Amino acid sequence: MKVRFWGTRGSLAVAQKAASIGDKIAAALVAARGRTFADVAEARAFAESELDFATFGTYGGATSCVEVEAGGEGDAFIVCDLGSGLREFGLDAMGRCARGHARVYHVFLSHLHWDHICGFPFFVPVFDPAAEVVIHSGHPDAETALRRQQEEISFPVAFDWLRANISFRTLEVGTRYPIGAVTVEMIEQHHSHLSYGYKFTDAAGKSVVYSTDSEHKIDKMDAETAFVGFFGGCDLVICDTMYSLADSISMKEDWGHSSNVVAIDLCHEAEAKRLALFHHEPTYSDADLQRMHQESIRYEELTRETAPLEVLCAYDGLVVDV
Ligand SMILES: [Zn+2]
Ligand SMILES: [Zn+2]
Repeated sequence: MKVRFWGTRGSLAVAQKAASIGDKIAAALVAARGRTFADVAEARAFAESELDFATFGTYGGATSCVEVEAGGEGDAFIVCDLGSGLREFGLDAMGRCARGHARVYHVFLSHLHWDHICGFPFFVPVFDPAAEVVIHSGHPDAETALRRQQEEISFPVAFDWLRANISFRTLEVGTRYPIGAVTVEMIEQHHSHLSYGYKFTDAAGKSVVYSTDSEHKIDKMDAETAFVGFFGGCDLVICDTMYSLADSISMKEDWGHSSNVVAIDLCHEAEAKRLALFHHEPTYSDADLQRMHQESIRYEELTRETAPLEVLCAYDGLVVDV
């Protein structure tokens, strides 16, 4: 499988400001002091290999949207959540469809909060009369939420004007659904109006978990055995790690999100192989997120009892082979 991150920010889309781009350029110039480059390609190679990620790149600012590619051109697209990252996914998918990819989209919604559905009105494939879009959710009110955000008071294009064949399907916890090249299972999570996590397992037994917007409390981890089972042996767990541990237990308790520390604890207990930190707090800078990633790697090493857990920090544009 291939996992593509189109949107990784939590709660609210953000963009880099001129001042932060200026800081990155200034840091790069200092790092390159005394060096000369024959051309842009040589300068870029230096930047890629010598600068840290927060200087060279950015974690991005689009809200939750993750694609799981499990099959080939003849298979359906699988996409988790409809955050603002969906706009770019839609454009890329249209390009792939023009080259022969099936025009079928299976969407899996974690929940109906705005940051997870706001990309839908900007999803170009819904204007393709040949496209089929199936929206899977644990919430029977998913259709209400999507129609409501396109009512005239909120958006100029009504849901009924969309040309694709769009259908809604409510899934049940405890059932395994064969969908395209994968089997899908769902788990109920701790969040306002509930949220759901999904596990995608392919024919070779490789598995990816998408688990965002769930609050696992560090002092109540014994109650999380269902999640340890769900994450069990997973090749990649994409997990809500919106806050640092300090923030999650001081200011942000009961806000419905988790920390990097509890995500690592859960993945260790589940003996998962890789963890992607996800649903980044919108006020955290690239430097903040890079620091949290480095601290997460150190915490993982210090608390590891069995096989290592690789900790990634998801960013808009990251592609992971599973
Ligand atoms: Zn969210
Ligand atoms: Zn939420």
